[in-house]
Amino acid sequence: MNIILFGPPGAGKGTQAKYLVKKINGFQISTGDILREEIKRDTDIGKKIINNMNEGKFVNDEIVNSLLKIHVFDPNKKEKLIFDGYPRSLSQAKNLDILLNESNQKIDHIFFLNVNKETIIKRIEKRKILEKRSDDHLDTILKRYYKYLETTKPVLDYYSKNSNFHEIDGTMDIDQITSKIEAFLNV
Ligand code: AMP
Repeated sequence: MNIILFGPPGAGKGTQAKYLVKKINGFQISTGDILREEIKRDTDIGKKIINNMNEGKFVNDEIVNSLLKIHVFDPNKKEKLIFDGYPRSLSQAKNLDILLNESNQKIDHIFFLNVNKETIIKRIEKRKILEKRSDDHLDTILKRYYKYLETTKPVLDYYSKNSNFHEIDGTMDIDQITSKIEAFLNV
């Protein structure tokens, strides 16, 4: 089973992904985490992306797509992929379709965690204290949110007609969201 968790920054995608990892024995493919790891390890990629990430801008597709590809083609992760933070644009959604097709896979469920701006700001301000992320400052949060509205949200049109697309009220408590997801997954 392959799953996409879709939604604005602060929607709770990472939290639900971690739950799903345990529940279905899956692998969280968080492009944000993968990119932060590159920065932490101070790799060539890390050096290239650090400014964009700190400023809340997208990292360019070439870099993100090549890092993602490794996971999609990892035989251990096949049919157990939980995408968190990818795709973030129509071109990434199309790229994902190509990679899945080439690796003989498909998406089984897409969960759209729908959250309003006020909730996002509250949640990310809280996360800033807990995780000390360098891109969790109010001005950067807003920038990331507007980028989401402009570039990521339109991807919903690409997915929302599919029968495996499920919209969930992401302002609910973590456990309530988890229960909704479980109901769709039948687990
Ligand atoms: P996230 O942890 O998903 O909130 O992502 C943190 C940051 O990583 C984003 O603000 C972007 O700078 C970068 N990033 C993560 N995923 C992507 C993606 N799919 N495409 C481009 N940039 C990304």
